[in-house]
Amino acid sequence: MEQRLNKDQCTGCGNCLTACPLHLLHLSAEDNCRGVRFIENIDPQRCTACRRCELMCTAGAIDFLENDQPVSNTLIDKQAIPPHAGCYLGSLTKALADAI
Ligand code: SF4
Ligand code: SF4
Repeated sequence: MEQRLNKDQCTGCGNCLTACPLHLLHLSAEDNCRGVRFIENIDPQRCTACRRCELMCTAGAIDFLENDQPVSNTLIDKQAIPPHAGCYLGSLTKALADAI
């Protein structure tokens, strides 16, 4: 199974960072299209596809592929997550952080 990260869907909330037992996930140095730092896997070869990170992501920015096809996760209803659902929150978070 291969992990797929959608950087423009990522809000930079950091929930998945703490979920990864191998500490493979980090926020990028640069911003995505929404102006927030996005998730990167620093060592994809070590990923065990445990899918903890996917479960923690409420923005739908992480999923897994097998033979280039998304592998369903019955615990997550991705259809319920609108495209760029997290982007508004991410932009809001950034605006708040900039204002402080
Ligand atoms: S699938 Fe598991 S090992 Fe891989 S990045 Fe996510 S939490 Fe880490
Ligand atoms: S949980 Fe999702 S939205 Fe939050 S940092 Fe990780 S990939 Fe991005």
